[in-house]
This record gives sequence, C-alpha cells and structure tokens, in this order.
Amino acid sequence: MEEQTPWTGKLMARIRREIFVLVVALAIAFIAVTAGMNGWGVLGLLVIMILAVMCSSQPRARPRVPLSVPEMEQPATRSLLPEVSATLSALDIPVMVISSDASVLFQNRAAEKAFGEVAIGAHISARLRSPGILDMVRETIVTNAPNQIEHSERLPSERVYIVRSSPVELAPEGSIGERLFMLSFRDISEVRRIDRMRSDFVANASHELRTPLASLRGFIETIQGPAKNDFKAQERFLGIMFDQTTRMSRLVDDLLSLSRLELKSHIAPDEKVDLVPLLGHVRDALLPLAKDVGVEILLHLPEGKAEVLGDRDELVQVFENLMENACKYGQEGKTVEVFLKSGPAGPVEVTVVDQGPGIPAEHVPRLTERFYRVNIEDSRSKKGTGLGLAIVKHILTRHRARLIVKSEVGKGTSFTVRF
Ligand code: ADP
Repeated sequence: MEEQTPWTGKLMARIRREIFVLVVALAIAFIAVTAGMNGWGVLGLLVIMILAVMCSSQPRARPRVPLSVPEMEQPATRSLLPEVSATLSALDIPVMVISSDASVLFQNRAAEKAFGEVAIGAHISARLRSPGILDMVRETIVTNAPNQIEHSERLPSERVYIVRSSPVELAPEGSIGERLFMLSFRDISEVRRIDRMRSDFVANASHELRTPLASLRGFIETIQGPAKNDFKAQERFLGIMFDQTTRMSRLVDDLLSLSRLELKSHIAPDEKVDLVPLLGHVRDALLPLAKDVGVEILLHLPEGKAEVLGDRDELVQVFENLMENACKYGQEGKTVEVFLKSGPAGPVEVTVVDQGPGIPAEHVPRLTERFYRVNIEDSRSKKGTGLGLAIVKHILTRHRARLIVKSEVGKGTSFTVRF
C-alpha cells in the first residue's frame, strides 16, 4: 500500500512543484504595486491567482520530456561509446552495429568502403539487400543466438564474405538497456582464389603429365604387340618415347623450381650480380637453340659493370627463359635483340626484343599465369611447359623487379625486366 502524506506535506510538495507560477504571480503583484494599485487590490489579485493554481483538481502536467521512456534509454545505446566506435572504426573488417529493430546504429569505415555509406537509424535492408543476410539478422534478433552465412557480391568486384550476426552482451541480465547486435563481414575472396588456383594447378599439372604418360603407354603396348618384330618402327617409337620422357622431366623440373621459389619468395637475395657477363653467358648457352631455329641473338651492352642485388642462378633462369621464348616464338623475325640499360640516373633494365608474330593484347595480362599459353600446340611443339613466365615472375618478385610486356601483333614483342 502507498503511504499517505499529511496535508501540509502535500501542500509543500505542490508549492515546490508550482514555484515557477508563484514567482510569476509575485512579480505581477510587485509590478501592480509599483504601478499604483492599492494594497487590497493587489492582495485580491494575488489570492485569486494562487487559488486558481492550487485548486486545479489535477496536478499540472510537467514540462514535456522530450523522449519517451524507451527513447530515454537510447542515449546509452543509440550512440556507442566513443572508445567503442573508434575501436570498431580501426578494424579492417567491415562491421555494423544494429538495434533490435534492425536499424543501423553504427558502421565502421571498412563497412562504408565495402557497402557504401548508410544513414544512421536506417533499416539494414537500405544497404544490404541479400535475403540470406536479412533472414539471418532476423533470426539472431529473435533467438539472441549468433549465426553466420556465406555471401557473395558480384559488383563492383567479385567478393565472398562470411557474414556473422551476433548479439552484443552489454549490460548485466535484467537491465533495461537496449539489445544490440553486431554484423561482421570476413572477406574470404583471397582464400577462395588461392584454393581455386591450387586445384587448377594440380589439375593442369596432372593433365600435362598424363598426356606424355598415355603416349608412352601406347608406344610400349605397340612395341610389345603389333610392332614386336618391326625394328624400324621400334626405333622411331623409341625416339618419340625419349622426347616424351624429356618433356615430363622438364615439367617436373619446372614444377620443382616453382615450389622452391615459393618457399623463399619472402627472402630478398643480396648477392651483387653483374648483368654484363651474365647476359653474355646466357646468349652463349642458347647459341645451339638459336642456330637450330635460325635466329641471331644480338647483345647491346653498356661499358663497364651493371650490378644488381640478386641470385645469379635465378637471374640466369630469367634471361634464359626470355631469350629462349624470343628465339622460339619470334623465330620468323630472324633476330633477337637484348638491350641492357644501366646508369646512375635510372633503374637497371634488360629488354629482350623479337620481331615475331606478337601476342594479341587479351593474352598479355595472363602470360605469367601457370600453364597459360597463347597456343597450346605451338608451345608443346616448341618444348614449352607453360611454366616459363610463371617462374620468371616468381623470381622477379623475389628480386623486387618488374616484368613489362609490350607486344604488337605482326611486329613483335618486348619483355623488359626493370630492377
Ligand atoms: P612456354 O613453356 O609455353 O613457352 P611460357 O610461360 O614461357 O611457357 O610462355 C607462355 C606463353 O607465352 C607461350 O606459350 C607463348 O604462347 C607466349 N609467349 C612467350 N613469349 C613469347 C614471345 N616472345 N612471342 C610470342 N609469344 C610468346
């Protein structure tokens, strides 16, 4: 039962509550006196005013509180503490904080960048239209339990996220604080891309090995069966089998090279290598091949040294690959020119130029992908594995150097290594 207050207490409480009106009444009385009204008149005026207020049956409404009760709870939760929002803003994964009616209370910078700005207070569906995400958010709000789904975006670029919605435990149980939920977006596009690359790589490598293996098997069966006594055919088949095994060992060598390079990709080489004698050595090693395909390799080297920090064997591999490709694929141009540019003013650059058929522009960006070839049959017939330029790219990345490819169909191709 509510305790009864004595009438004097009630009166005092009422006077305290109406103090503003009483002060105004006294002020009017004072003005009336100074304006010349007689004493009885002023007293009467005062009594009428005070009685009018005191005798009103209902207590006067308080000045309107700007927020209703649930709204009054909001300042604690509607705007997050500055430390919390600053911490979330510093996160590099997109994060949004939403209320129990799924309106956005906070969005960090990464979320703004990924999904665009959303007005604070707007419903989450104003920015995220995926039915999967909206259903998940709804379920988390209803059950107060965390959930996650995988979500892909196609525009502006293809992205895959693990989107997680979870309740934020802010206040102790039983508190009237508003419930908050956090939506986080973990970008797994890169992981997916690497997974896909790995499985493509295994499939390509297996395919590359399976073809010569199948041909070896076929020839062995023929030699054991129909060509058992045909020594001339056997000799021819053995020649082809030898080529196929050489092709397989080239492929295995390249695969091993790639995996060795991957292992040490983060270690920059620190040996001083002079490119002048190195390019001469590579040219000499390629002379037999150049002669076979009818190409002359011309070196244009500066006076003195051209030193870079690097790994000698790996740099030999780079220039061997580039000059060999220029000889093989640009053979109809008859000459391959190698320019070495080195001076105090600019970077050291080696450019290998051929006057071959050139490479159509759409292929150029993909040349350094493993097993990417403009023409598979052409590459195979020229003993290519499709890994040469991938190896070049790996070595150059480790050397903090760039590969620049320029090509014009019908005119030729140039590969520049810029240290
Ligand atoms: P491959 O072992 O097939 O030569 P690379 O990785 O060295 O593999 O080269 C990839 C592809 O790039 C080649 O198959 C060829 O189609 C193309 N290519 C490379 N160098 C040249 C060049 N100088 N002229 C024309 N095409 C080239």
